[in-house]
Amino acid sequence: MNWVGRDKVSVWHPFTPLKGVDDPLMIKRAEGVYLITEDDRKIIDAISSWWVNIHGHAHPEITKAIAEQAASLEHVIFAGFTHQPAIELAENLLSILPSNQHKIFYSDNGSTAVEVALKMVIQYWYNKGTQKNKFIAIDGAYHGDTFGSMSVGERGDFTRPFFNHLFEVEFIDFPTPSNLNEVKKQFVEYLNTGEIAAFIFEPLVQGAAGMRMYDASFLDELITVAREHNVLCIADEVMTGFGRTGKLFASDYLVNKPDIFCLSKGLTGGALAMGVTSCTKEIEDAFQTPELKKAFLHGHSYTANPMACAAANASFKLLQKPKCAKGIELIHQCHLNFADSIKNKNIVKEVRVLGTILALEFKSDDDTSYFSEMRNQLYPFFISRNVLLRPLGNLIYILPPYIITEQQLNQVYSAITEFLTEHA
Ligand SMILES: *Cc1c(COP(=O)(O)O)cnc(C)c1O
Repeated sequence: MNWVGRDKVSVWHPFTPLKGVDDPLMIKRAEGVYLITEDDRKIIDAISSWWVNIHGHAHPEITKAIAEQAASLEHVIFAGFTHQPAIELAENLLSILPSNQHKIFYSDNGSTAVEVALKMVIQYWYNKGTQKNKFIAIDGAYHGDTFGSMSVGERGDFTRPFFNHLFEVEFIDFPTPSNLNEVKKQFVEYLNTGEIAAFIFEPLVQGAAGMRMYDASFLDELITVAREHNVLCIADEVMTGFGRTGKLFASDYLVNKPDIFCLSKGLTGGALAMGVTSCTKEIEDAFQTPELKKAFLHGHSYTANPMACAAANASFKLLQKPKCAKGIELIHQCHLNFADSIKNKNIVKEVRVLGTILALEFKSDDDTSYFSEMRNQLYPFFISRNVLLRPLGNLIYILPPYIITEQQLNQVYSAITEFLTEHA
């Protein structure tokens, strides 16, 4: 049996029905912006392999850092022990996060970074002897696939089988230019119950909801009122972190800085799984006690894995280079020009650009959900043109590694233009 045949016998893939879908593509190698298939097709990874890759695949400096680290200290228990890569990474992250961030807690992925944030907040209030247990989130949110992160996320087709097991969360409507007053009113009503522990949000752009973008100044207003009501604010920057939105963090567009940050995806440059939750000194202080029952009793076997830390430190160095900022700016400019050139095409409903993200929503009779039929047309069309774009329903987005060249971007744009022309 060939590899794909063997895959079908024993492997279960994420977000994929077990029946009625095309075979997965067998990738033997990846380099820069390209995924290279078994039969030597070079596919442009225009979505950074689910938003994780920022410097290109198999980057020599990240690869070298992992290999060297693996050869000297591959892993050690992180309770009672520490190591240089973890200390350096914490210092590196604190040097670029907003200055109110004070302490770094390591975990394994974006979902666990969010779980840690939720638990940290609940226990913060518990340690202070205050009964506050509820969260406010934004309609359409995606914060991960574990139970806590699902609870603060959109109640929809993805989580329906689990509804009975998700804890209660208050959702405010997604802010649009026409509903800001209402949303703020909803928000204040929830805050006034006195039961709210924290407000969690994806700053400026909701990824999985379809790269839905909203205004920084409104988020600033919400954070201000949350503060006035003594409610903590959690920025889930799992997707937006590390330059994705044009600044290092989406929260860099805000005046009022969140109390907690959740990071993952771009953290290791896309090479290894790792999550980070950072917090303010005020939150840390509630845990500054020798009492074990007030300690944060949470941890994962692979917490602060040295290889993942080494990859993240290497990625951090690359992120600091002027070349990286130039790459981000180039993508942004190219996106703006391309958006301008297609915005009036008749099947285009809307084109949105934020930093390195371009989202294109098609008009469709179908509902606009992830389950829209249009995806069955879009995905194979682009793959057949050697471009990986993974639609969210009737929407496609480009979210490339920052090393993508203008020429490679044009190849992605051309494939989209071809689709628009064919479907005009
Ligand atoms: C992807 C994502 C997560 C979940 O991260 P995983 O590493 O897939 O668990 C959480 N929040 C946001 C905003 C994300 O985009």
